[in-house]
Amino acid sequence: MELPEKIYACINCKNTKRKCEGVKVNFDDNEYEPKLTYCKMCLEKKVECIITTPHCVLCKKKFGKNETIGLCLGCKMSRMLEISISRHEQTILAFENIISRLEQTTPISESIHSAILILRDEKSVTEQVIRKLRQQLINQLTRGD
Ligand SMILES: [Zn+2]
Ligand SMILES: [Zn+2]
Ligand SMILES: [Zn+2]
Repeated sequence: MELPEKIYACINCKNTKRKCEGVKVNFDDNEYEPKLTYCKMCLEKKVECIITTPHCVLCKKKFGKNETIGLCLGCKMSRMLEISISRHEQTILAFENIISRLEQTTPISESIHSAILILRDEKSVTEQVIRKLRQQLINQLTRGD
């Protein structure tokens, strides 16, 4: 799910009939709440910059007037699951790294051998977690709320 930086116009500029330089919406890789960078005019006047059409950046679902831009509950859930999956995938990579390094040691002592077995077990547990998370994500996306 790509969440590029997006730019939207704000209410304060609209009300004063100015051209809004735009409100930036940034998503950090590990965040599911967007960070808003206020438009230039609102920053200068030190007022809250409110986007003209509050909505979910992913599914475009409209929010109430007093809300800001962001993710709706359904999209937030999906994003949380995606973040969780990618963290677990990183754990898998780390396991694979350690295992292959241990396998390269010569001679492989009894303790190294059992360490490898434990790590392989841990890796497959993590793989199961990923499968469950993926299934949850699919359910979440097909429910579409
Ligand atoms: Zn503005
Ligand atoms: Zn503004
Ligand atoms: Zn949404």
